[in-house]
Amino acid sequence: MIAALILAAAISPFPLSPSTRYDPRIPTLKQVAGHGVGEEITTPDQIAAYATALAAAAPDRARLLTYAQSEEGRPLHLLVLGSSERMARLGEVQAGLRALADPRGLAPAEADRLVRELPAVVWLLHGVHGNEVSSPDAALALAYHLLAAQDDPSVDLVRREAIVLIDPLENPDGRARFLASNRLGRAASPDPEPAAAEHDEPWPGGRSNHYLFDMNRDWFAQTQPETRGRLRVFLDWYPHVTVDLHEMGGDSTYFFAPPAKPLNPYLQPSQQAWHDVFGRAIAAQFDARGVAYFAKEVFDSFYPGYGETWPMMQGSVGMTFEQASARGLVWRREDGTLLTYLDGIRSHFAAALTTVEAAARGRAKLLGDFLEFRRSAVRAGEQGPVREYVLVAGADTARTRRLADLLVAQGIEVRRAEGELRSGGRVFPAGSLVVSLAQPSGRLVRNLLDPKVPMDEAFVKEQERRRKKRLPDEIYDVTAWSLPLVFGVECVSLGVPATGATRPYAAAAAAEGGLAPAKVAWLLPWGTGTAAVVAEALQAGLKVRVAEAAFTLGGRRYPPGTAIVRPAENPEGVRQTLGRIAARHDAPAFAIDSGYVEDGISLGSERVHALKAPRVLLAWDRPTSSTSAGWARWVLERRYGQPVTAVRVPSLCRVDLRRYDVLVLPSGEYGDAIGEEAVKRLRDWVREGGTLVALGEASRWLTREKVSLLATHTELRDGRPEPDPSAHDEKKDAAEKPPAKDAKPEPFDLDKALQPEKERPDAVPGALLRVDLDPEQWLAAGAGDTLYAIVESQRVFTPLKLDQGANVGLYAKKDQVVASGLVWDDVRDLLAQKAFVMSQPVGKGHVVAFAEDPNYRGYAEATELLFMNAVLLGPAY
Ligand SMILES: [Zn+2]
Repeated sequence: MIAALILAAAISPFPLSPSTRYDPRIPTLKQVAGHGVGEEITTPDQIAAYATALAAAAPDRARLLTYAQSEEGRPLHLLVLGSSERMARLGEVQAGLRALADPRGLAPAEADRLVRELPAVVWLLHGVHGNEVSSPDAALALAYHLLAAQDDPSVDLVRREAIVLIDPLENPDGRARFLASNRLGRAASPDPEPAAAEHDEPWPGGRSNHYLFDMNRDWFAQTQPETRGRLRVFLDWYPHVTVDLHEMGGDSTYFFAPPAKPLNPYLQPSQQAWHDVFGRAIAAQFDARGVAYFAKEVFDSFYPGYGETWPMMQGSVGMTFEQASARGLVWRREDGTLLTYLDGIRSHFAAALTTVEAAARGRAKLLGDFLEFRRSAVRAGEQGPVREYVLVAGADTARTRRLADLLVAQGIEVRRAEGELRSGGRVFPAGSLVVSLAQPSGRLVRNLLDPKVPMDEAFVKEQERRRKKRLPDEIYDVTAWSLPLVFGVECVSLGVPATGATRPYAAAAAAEGGLAPAKVAWLLPWGTGTAAVVAEALQAGLKVRVAEAAFTLGGRRYPPGTAIVRPAENPEGVRQTLGRIAARHDAPAFAIDSGYVEDGISLGSERVHALKAPRVLLAWDRPTSSTSAGWARWVLERRYGQPVTAVRVPSLCRVDLRRYDVLVLPSGEYGDAIGEEAVKRLRDWVREGGTLVALGEASRWLTREKVSLLATHTELRDGRPEPDPSAHDEKKDAAEKPPAKDAKPEPFDLDKALQPEKERPDAVPGALLRVDLDPEQWLAAGAGDTLYAIVESQRVFTPLKLDQGANVGLYAKKDQVVASGLVWDDVRDLLAQKAFVMSQPVGKGHVVAFAEDPNYRGYAEATELLFMNAVLLGPAY
């Protein structure tokens, strides 16, 4: 029997289902890529070629669409598989799917007809993390199986009842990077040793995309072109089931739904019931094959930026599958057994095939549940205590617009106020945006716009208990992400809809690039729009100045940080150039014909500083955190159009720092990675006028005695200064208090006796903390007097002393500091009124230090502005 199986496997061109007969007209992977399933890790180019070949071989049942292009220029594909009858009228089918997604105005008879006739749409996404290699090969195998299998009842059922959307490769750039290191490190025959070079990826690894983003956190933020493309796919199809297929550590087994706690509170019981249906079906398959697995542990479904959770907030049944990774072709597990690449493909193939079969079998119920999800979302919005949100138009119009664009791009309806809006006693200015909760995407709206998304209380209590015992918490990702808070846009919730004229907001085309002529200057109050304008204007060679303090001119108050562009010191055509740039970034520019101020500083004041196009260096590679380095690079290059030179840390000593104005140190454990000589050069460079910007863990490094570029320190759990590993220990030990001589011995207190000394505070698991800013500091230009920062660390910085520098942003007092998310009480008390961002003058230059990463996941708009202020304005002060 076994011999027969082995024989069948050997002669079958398709080892995943040896007994199935396949249509020879459909090409195998071997025919196109040159290797059979599991024999080699298929490259991004081969994946594209094979998907193309499959679609070409069955044009009546398969279609290949290109939905995006990666940063490195690789196409992202969607393979659409369906019956020839449906594929022949695909446009009509899609229109039906979209109609089902919007039950408002859908007549009951029409809804019934759609549920009766439409296919179940199952969207399978593969390899968002580029070094999780097996699922894209499983995707190709599944596509082949669904197209080529003959006389297979389960495949026939899928063809009849479903449309399967296969995204074979979500992250081609990351996969290419993994493959390059894997191939380079590979032994003559693949080495199962986990520490072997072929498995051990160099910085930054293949998980992330070109800008080193984790795209499985990017679904609502949409910072990356790959993610933006995927949201368009979702809105084109409104799939009823969405599966994101991953890999995890090689010693693990297989994970599938239901997800672990905590669950997003907007997940519906019907979706959880489907998790159970799919989970049981896959379990039965795996049990029959003797494959070990787990569910309901580790991988949670709380954060709405996952490939699993975002679709669920729109009504899809989202699931994550995780296969133990061979991280190459073969991996030796700790128990000595070998895990092969083919093993991984086999399990993913089985889980995905079982899922599409179960979806096909449950088609009508799946569609009915989806429709009811969308209907009940509208109802909840019509009846709940909050009926709509108003995003209040502020001075920084670019921020509000960016937020609105972000919402609209994920299928959320937004309306724009034509004139003033009124509600209760409050008046909102024209241009404010209204987001009603009575819409099919209402649950996504609540997730993104509510200040807090509540976490199950019992779960939180359990984490407290674990924490006291020093067990790790079970929180998989961040606990807060509210977009109005991280953008710094005021969001007001209304129980009664506001009155006033509105019309649908459409991602507005750039306004006409016309600026009024100005005799003296154009003035641009600082903000996210103006920062982007200034970055681009400086690159374009325009002369820009910036006012350090406020002034009033022509009856208008200009806040500190207002940018000044004078025609007299700029080339001819400045009006057109600036007009074009300002329109592109939605920045207001006021033309003035007289420089004689009514109040405050003058345009020719000594407190008006000339900006220069900053020459920026970014520390890159080990030991920087790849995400921090990637976020910083993306914010500079893509968000703000600021060129930057990335230099590997060991090469920093080779760079002539004098040719640069700004050096950004991303978060990272620098330790001794920057040697003594390089540190000295760094200090000299800052003294000569350089701007050093340190993020997160890099700021801690600056406080080390041997670096001495930041005159503060981080604190321990009890508020004492954390010992400096670079300093001499005797000194610190001496500083510790000796016990009082005559103290009475206290009764033994076990709890107290167990408390460790010199322990860092527990990390904040990704919460939003309120930061009070000092608006008189240039670094805070355009940021108002409060912002909300994403905190995800155990760093507590004692504020700088007045004679050392400025605490530009301090965490608020303890009763106000937590804006959203989970922060342990003792950590909250410790963080209150400690430093979030500091600016310390050093000679002619300065150090700007952030306690946390201001560029978090690219969506922390408010803190990103402070980072850009450091880069753009730092060299001028
Ligand atoms: Zn993954």
